Amino acid sequence: MADKYDVIIIGGGPGGYVAAIRAAQLDMKVLLIDDRQGEDGKPAPGGTCLNVGCVPSKALLDSSKHLHHIQHDYKAHGINVEKVSMDIGQMLKRKQGVVKQLNSGLMQLFKANKIEFINGRGKLLADRKVEVSPNDRDKVTHTGEHVILAAGSVPIEIPGVKFDGEHIIDNVGALELEKAPERLGVIGAGVIGLELGSVWKRLGSEVVLLEAMDTFLAAVDPDIAKASAREFKKQKLDIRLGSKVSGAKVKDGKVEVTYEDAKGEHSETFDRLLVSVGRKAASDGLLAEDSGVKLTDRGQVEVDEQSRTSADNVWGIGDLVRGPMLAHKASEEGVAVVETIAGQAGHLNMDTIPWVIYTDPEIAWVGPTESELKEKGVDYRVGTFPFAATGRGLAMGEAAGMVKMMADAETDRILAVHIVGPQASELIGECVVAMEFAGSSEDLARIVHAHPTLSEAIHEAALAVDKRAIHKAN
Ligand code: FAD
Ligand code: NAD
Repeated sequence: MADKYDVIIIGGGPGGYVAAIRAAQLDMKVLLIDDRQGEDGKPAPGGTCLNVGCVPSKALLDSSKHLHHIQHDYKAHGINVEKVSMDIGQMLKRKQGVVKQLNSGLMQLFKANKIEFINGRGKLLADRKVEVSPNDRDKVTHTGEHVILAAGSVPIEIPGVKFDGEHIIDNVGALELEKAPERLGVIGAGVIGLELGSVWKRLGSEVVLLEAMDTFLAAVDPDIAKASAREFKKQKLDIRLGSKVSGAKVKDGKVEVTYEDAKGEHSETFDRLLVSVGRKAASDGLLAEDSGVKLTDRGQVEVDEQSRTSADNVWGIGDLVRGPMLAHKASEEGVAVVETIAGQAGHLNMDTIPWVIYTDPEIAWVGPTESELKEKGVDYRVGTFPFAATGRGLAMGEAAGMVKMMADAETDRILAVHIVGPQASELIGECVVAMEFAGSSEDLARIVHAHPTLSEAIHEAALAVDKRAIHKAN
């Protein structure tokens, strides 16, 4: 039977499900539609992030980091571990257990918030009608006063390199390998390539990353990219810049990849090939021709600053629309849209969205890179501080990396903070808060930071902006 809802949401990832919960909190009648199922055929809400992205990748990053520490770092701490062995099957089982626990936690939250959830596909028709094809029932059409499109993204495939799910794989395949391939090729040394490349390197693979750009981590501040490249080299991640892949074919269970760099054409043979060259909006099959929603030439749903599409009361959020493809961006966008619908002042500050790359050391930043500030002609001051000069970093045996802070030369307002180092993912939070409150480097410099902690590196970088760091020469 067709029903009317205050809000219908298509896509149950961190964008869609958070929007659904917030809408329910605001007393709206909510229908959430998500097509994802687990291996057991049960609904698996949480989107790419929970099922095949953020969460499982971090589970494997953490498991493989434990192994790496035992093999390489414990001895220095005076701990000798003999006969270390690994059980990749158990690592995958643990990872899947974490995912399943969160899937069922979400189903309980939907119930507790009286959100109607349909496991199936949704398609937007004209006048905010949504055709739903449930996985276990016949098609039905519902109408929403508002519709939020939150269908997320899918991996980009490159010409001549077709995913086969076994030898040529995307993020899904790279999170399910039952044993470490002897040689793992990775096309694209971006976020996924580095994170999943690190996992399999630590678990024993020889990892070669073929990156088309001549610059390593072009979106990252150049000093931070340089410092992280040094660490990755020590870890023997073989990153080949300026390498343009022309094709890949599977032969006798191996993948032969051809690529070109400044020295000419080369070919390499791998046991598995991960393609991680970016993701694109999952807009295929989402919209009927007369839905009224415009797409950009890149297939993204076109939205304005407040996430409004070209159709009345239809909104777009998360990976499906412009902006960074990050789970927390999707979630906060969902909250802002629902609060706007409820007549509140829904708002998302795109300038203070933190980025994290969960390599070892971690990379995290908020705000523009130094190159971007230069390009814009901004007058700024820089303060840096190395973790090697912090007592905590040394005590932990994790002292690689640094904090780099940039503040406006005239007002001292913090413009950006870039970190490469231990627990950068947690440390960046303080910087985001400072920037949200329009803080200055002096504000952070005057705040008492506990000793000994890694956060002292933030404190010292803030002091260094004014050339008065205590534990390094200015
Ligand atoms: P999604 O999470 O993609 O969810 C959309 C959902 O909608 C999916 O379940 C999809 O199946 C469903 N759907 C699509 N079309 C329809 C339809 N027509 N009907 C019904 N359902 C539909 N981001 C971070 O911030 N931190 C990280 O650590 C991080 N790690 C990542 C690691 C990997 C390997 C990958 C691939 C991504 C990672 N990301 C990370 C990015 C993050 O996963 C995305 O930015 C985030 O999931 C986007 O959320 P979303 O709600 O827009 O879309
Ligand atoms: P990415 O944009 O981070 O990296 C893709 C890399 O591939 C780039 O360096 C690009 O220059 C390179 N490339 C593109 N075409 C190529 C080609 N033909 N040959 C060789 N190299 C090529 O994309 P990704 O790693 O696929 O990740 C997709 C998105 O998912 C990220 O941008 C990010 O938004 C999100 N993500 C976030 C996290 C996190 O927050 N920790 C983790 C994983 C993914």
